[in-house]
Amino acid sequence: MLRIIPRNDAAVQGNWQKELANAITDPKDLLQFLQLDPENFQSDIAARKLFPMRVPLSFAKRMQKANPNDPLLLQVLPQQAEFMEVAGFNEDPLEEHQAAVPGLLHKYKSRVLFIVRGGCAVNCRYCFRRHFPYQDNSPNKQGWQQALDYIAQDQAINEVIFSGGDPLMANDQQLAWLIEQLEQIPHLKRLRIHTRLPVVIPSRITHELTQLLAQTRLQTIVVSHINHPNEINQELSSAFAKLHDAGITLLNQGVLLKDINDDASILAHLSEALFSANILPYYLFLLDKVAGAAHYDIDEQSAVAIMQDLYQRLPGFLVPRLAREQAGKRSKTPIDIGLS
Ligand code: SF4
Repeated sequence: MLRIIPRNDAAVQGNWQKELANAITDPKDLLQFLQLDPENFQSDIAARKLFPMRVPLSFAKRMQKANPNDPLLLQVLPQQAEFMEVAGFNEDPLEEHQAAVPGLLHKYKSRVLFIVRGGCAVNCRYCFRRHFPYQDNSPNKQGWQQALDYIAQDQAINEVIFSGGDPLMANDQQLAWLIEQLEQIPHLKRLRIHTRLPVVIPSRITHELTQLLAQTRLQTIVVSHINHPNEINQELSSAFAKLHDAGITLLNQGVLLKDINDDASILAHLSEALFSANILPYYLFLLDKVAGAAHYDIDEQSAVAIMQDLYQRLPGFLVPRLAREQAGKRSKTPIDIGLS
């Protein structure tokens, strides 16, 4: 028998904070919602202690019922394979646990990563920050001041990237305050927001947020994180259309994930769906080698073959750049896919 029906579904829909508070956190509840028997997943469920599960109902509804291999489910359900220790995979693959100041990562000369919030609306099992010490890097408004001072004293910085966790976990008033402070730093030109929250809870694109991003003097780019075409539904498209109509540049980056999107036809479908939602494919990343996620990894040679196939299927502007992040590098490392 179905053990949960998420509380007051109709009452919370459209209110992102309530949707967030009502996210499914028990794997058994998610499995039952999807008409899958939790008894068959006992050894997988144990992996929740390595990294908690969190899935908003809006995202769960896009999963196919009774399909244990649903590509959205595979991104969020704890799996036994997370217990495997695999050589080359560690807790801090990008060596970023040492921040420039608490809550600020300065990896690239002209850009800084501003960790606005530690938590996320969804916990992706392959996340390279699944072991990140957010407790030491989630400043409040007072703590943000230290990061703002750091940015103000370095004129080489022209772009701030709101990151996390998920920066849109901050509410609109908090974001308004932060953006106002950044606007006062003359050498800043751009604000980039890396987020998955409106993908899993589209109601996060509030009128206030849209106005805020449309009105700032900073050129604003929202970079979504979508890995599979099934993540894009009408609710998501309508939400992102508000940002698009307000003149905000929309880009997407995804991660190449084994058994989820490691197929040129799926990636072609994803690019088409993104473009229909006014979002341009930007990057496709090879997995960061984080402990607990080795079962998602695709080797570089296979990734290159997929990309070559993708180029046959799509116009160039719909093909994301294949890249990887490497610890200590001053930029992302593009992967040569051998087309020249
Ligand atoms: S939303 Fe992004 S930061 Fe959060 S768990 Fe998923 S991949 Fe990690």
